[in-house]
Amino acid sequence: MFRHFCPNCWREVPAESDSCSHCNYHLTRYNELPEGTKLILCLSHPLKEIRLMAIKALGDLRYENAIAMFGEIIDEGNDLTLIEEIFRELVKIDTPLSRTKLEELNSSHHPKIIRELAHRALKTFN
Ligand SMILES: [Zn+2]
Repeated sequence: MFRHFCPNCWREVPAESDSCSHCNYHLTRYNELPEGTKLILCLSHPLKEIRLMAIKALGDLRYENAIAMFGEIIDEGNDLTLIEEIFRELVKIDTPLSRTKLEELNSSHHPKIIRELAHRALKTFN
């Protein structure tokens, strides 16, 4: 049997609930959200595997609205696996906005490792 989790506070909720008993999040409205929006919410999931899966899926969708959140995860800078995946997905998204983000990440106020990843990602476009 599936366990159901609230996409807002990630605590377990009964399968048929209309709203989360912990935080009041509107669960029926959540089900109507577009796929990309649901995946953005998954970027805050407590399990790293789920966050990684959401990053890949957002790249596959070439979901430009994810770029700002990707930038925040990079700025937090505490998980290199996630950061490396984000750089792969920014290349996959391949729009003017994703290229601008990579150029911004290549600038001097970012840590060396981030600049190197950005530099390598930008080279794949040429
Ligand atoms: Zn909740």
